[in-house]
Amino acid sequence: MSSSQPSAEPSAAAVAETLGNVIDGKAIADAIRAELAQSLSESLSSSASSSSTITKPGLAVMLVGNRTDSQTYVRMKQKACADCGMLSFLQEFKDTSTITEDTLLETIHAWNTDPNVHGILIQLPLPPNINEARILSAVLPTKDVDGLHPANVASLFNTATHNTNINNANTNVKLNWKNFESIPFHIPCTPQGCIELLDRSSISIEGKHAVVIGRSNLVGLPVAMLLLHRNATVTIVHSRTTNIESIVRNADIVVAAVGRAHMIQSSWLKLGCAVIDVGINSVEDANSKRGYKLVGDVDYENAKMVAGWITPVPGGVGPMTIAMLLRNTLNSWRRATAAAAAAAATEP
Ligand code: NAP
Repeated sequence: MSSSQPSAEPSAAAVAETLGNVIDGKAIADAIRAELAQSLSESLSSSASSSSTITKPGLAVMLVGNRTDSQTYVRMKQKACADCGMLSFLQEFKDTSTITEDTLLETIHAWNTDPNVHGILIQLPLPPNINEARILSAVLPTKDVDGLHPANVASLFNTATHNTNINNANTNVKLNWKNFESIPFHIPCTPQGCIELLDRSSISIEGKHAVVIGRSNLVGLPVAMLLLHRNATVTIVHSRTTNIESIVRNADIVVAAVGRAHMIQSSWLKLGCAVIDVGINSVEDANSKRGYKLVGDVDYENAKMVAGWITPVPGGVGPMTIAMLLRNTLNSWRRATAAAAAAAATEP
């Protein structure tokens, strides 16, 4: 080859230019929230002309105990509902010494049958004297906007959802995993937000090697299933995995959901990979008024030099969780409204 011919390999400078793209979760979440508000407003205006009994979407939230972080999250969710044009209903049980599972279940059963409630959210964690699984299982699956009811979990973990309409086993309709609004069951919000961040950043998933660090019911397992449904090849690593670094180094997409500040080093990452950092960790910070700051599971500043795309903490996955909660609630309302209209149409 003559020295004047262009080299097939991009120069180091050209590669460096493609690195360190920040995925702005706050901006993406704001855009989604605006889309949802617009879509809801249009639906309400068009249904107002055809029906006088139309209700707005309603999210019922249960808060048990006095955790200040949970109180903050609940306030943010209620404000997000109001901003989007949805209603929210809060039931607080502050005294954890007297609260019983039966009292919580009574409230959930009332919400399950209340036509003004389209989504039910149990703010986690629940106090240790309450059986979390029993409480989550009591929520009607169609109103379980957190996607944690066993029926919703089973639907997500069923590979038959690729080619079977779960509402009718006799039909063979493929679910469209590129359109969450078309999925007929609720998917947990944070994992759904991770996929949305990839999609809205035009990062392709199909055929890619995705490594999920963490295997919790809330994040690691569902995000792994979503990546699989989008035809990624998925590896899940956890606290007993040996030599995590070498596995992560092969990943085109890394989702970190561990809860350990800065555990994932830049040296673990493949050049140009996409990094979605779910972790929220509080570390001491003498420069902050509060004496601490929030950081992710990834050593962000150094990882930015190696990753093609990366989410910051805060301002990455966090804002998406609430946006996805609003979307699940709106979906739930649409299905309930359509079912009510269909039932009314068949009345004599
Ligand atoms: P979790 O239930 O504590 O699960 C943590 C997972 O990390 C477990 O599967 C654990 O493995 C694994 N792990 C722990 N130490 C490890 C190590 N040294 N090497 C490899 N894996 C390790 O936590 P989570 O609920 O999934 O949450 C994870 C993080 O995401 C937390 O920081 C949480 O605050 C954050 N979070 C953020 C949002 C958001 O909206 N941004 C939402 C939910 C959670 P084992 O299974 O082997 O124990």
